[in-house]
Amino acid sequence: TESLARIEAGNPKINAFVTVDRDGALAAAKAADARLAAGHGGPLTGIPLAHKDVFCTEGVLTTCGSKMLSNFVSPYDAHVVTLLKAAGAVMVGKTNMDEFAMGSSNENSHFGPTRNPWNTDKVPGGSSGGSAAAVAARMVPIATGTDTGGSIRQPASLCGITGIKPTYGTVSRYGMIAYASSLDQGGAFGRSAEDCALMLSAMNGHDPRDSTSLERDTEDYTADLARPLAGLRIGLPTEFFADGMSDDVRAAVEAALAEYRKLGAVTVDVSLPNARLAIPAYYVIAPAEASSNLSRFDGVRYGHRAAEYGDLNDMYCKSRAQGFGAEVKRRILVGTYVLSHGYYDAYYIKAQKLRRLIAQDFAAAFAQCDVIAGPTCPTVAFGIGEKSNDPVQMYLGDIYTVAVNLAGLPALAHPAGFGAGGMPVGLQLIGNYFGEARLLGVAHQFQ
Ligand code: GLN
Repeated sequence: TESLARIEAGNPKINAFVTVDRDGALAAAKAADARLAAGHGGPLTGIPLAHKDVFCTEGVLTTCGSKMLSNFVSPYDAHVVTLLKAAGAVMVGKTNMDEFAMGSSNENSHFGPTRNPWNTDKVPGGSSGGSAAAVAARMVPIATGTDTGGSIRQPASLCGITGIKPTYGTVSRYGMIAYASSLDQGGAFGRSAEDCALMLSAMNGHDPRDSTSLERDTEDYTADLARPLAGLRIGLPTEFFADGMSDDVRAAVEAALAEYRKLGAVTVDVSLPNARLAIPAYYVIAPAEASSNLSRFDGVRYGHRAAEYGDLNDMYCKSRAQGFGAEVKRRILVGTYVLSHGYYDAYYIKAQKLRRLIAQDFAAAFAQCDVIAGPTCPTVAFGIGEKSNDPVQMYLGDIYTVAVNLAGLPALAHPAGFGAGGMPVGLQLIGNYFGEARLLGVAHQFQ
C-alpha cells in the first residue's frame, strides 16, 4: 500500500507509470503475506516491483509505449514476469518507455514523456526511463528494464540509481517485445547493487522458449558482494576518457575512480580502438533488426487497426501510419534501406564486421584488467525538448553504452556523484562474459 500511495502521489507529475494494477498488487501482496507468515518467503517475497511496459503481462495492458499496442492485453506472461512472480515480488504496474524501446529520453512515448524526479524539467533517460524514475522517486524499490544500446544503464545514470544489463542470453527474451533481437537484453534497476543482485538472481536462467537463451544453470549474483576490492584491476579505455565527456561528468567519474583506488583497486589504461565505430554500427544493425521485428504489427491479429480503409494493403498502410510514432518510422525506413538489395553489403555487412572488431577490442582489454570503468553518458540529464528535434545529437549520447551490446557483455551503472545542476552522474562498469556477480560485488563495495 505504501508503494501504491507513493505512485498515486507522484505519478501525475513524473508520469513513470502507464498502468497501475492496484487490485492485482493488493491480491499479490496478500498472498505474499501468507507465504511469509508460513515461513516460505524469499528475499523478494512481498517486494513491490514495476515492469517496463515492454514485458508482456497476462491480463494487464502491455503498450510498449506505442499507440500501436495501446489496446493490447497479452494472453501470457513474459518469462521474466513469471520468474519474478514465482519469487514473490508484487507487480504494482507497468512503466513508461520510449516507443518500442527506441530512444534515450522517454520523449518518444505515446503516453507523454516521463520526468526526472531530481528535476522535473529534465529527461529521465531512456528507453527504460519510467522504470528508472519510478525507482528514483521511491515509488518501487526495484523495476525491470531492457537494454539494447544502453536503455538500462543510461536512465540509471541520469536518475541516480543502479541498473544492470547482464550478458546477452542470460535473461530470457520470451514475452519481451522485440526491438533488435541480437542486442536486446532484460535486466534490473534498484537503489543499490545488492538489490539488483537479488533481483537479477531471480530473473536469469535457461528458457527453451527463447532460442538465444544460454544453457546455463541459474546463477546467484549475490555470491561476490562481500569480496574485497584489493588487487582489482580496473581498465580505463583511453578512448572513453578523451574529449566528449562534459567537465562535470568527468569530475564525478574521476572522483569515483579515486575512491576505488582507496578501496585497493588499481587502474590500468586499456584501449578500445574501434569504440568510435560503435554508434554507426549500432544505428545500422538495430534499425535493420527493428524493421524486421516490427513487420508483425500489421493491424490484423492485434494492436491498432485503422478505423477506415480500402483493401488489405491500405489497411496495413493506414494502421502502421497511424500506430507508429515518428522515431519508430524513421528506424523502420533506415532498417529497410540498409537491408535492401544493393545496400546490404555496404551497410549491414560492414556493420557486422565492425561489431566483430569491437568484440575483439574488449577481449584484448580484458586480458589486462578485471573490469572496465568509464562514464555512462557524456552529460547529466538534459532538458525535456532540448534534443528531441535532433535525432543525430540524441544518437551520439549513446557513445559509451552501445559497444557493450554489440559485444554482448554485461555492464552496470551505479551512482558516482553529482554534476551540473546537482543532477546525478553514473559510473559505468563493464565486465567480461558472465562477470555479473563480480560487477555487482565491485559496485556494492563502492556503495
Ligand atoms: N538509445 C538507444 C536507441 O535509441 C538504446 C535504446 C535501448 O537500449 N533500447 O536505440
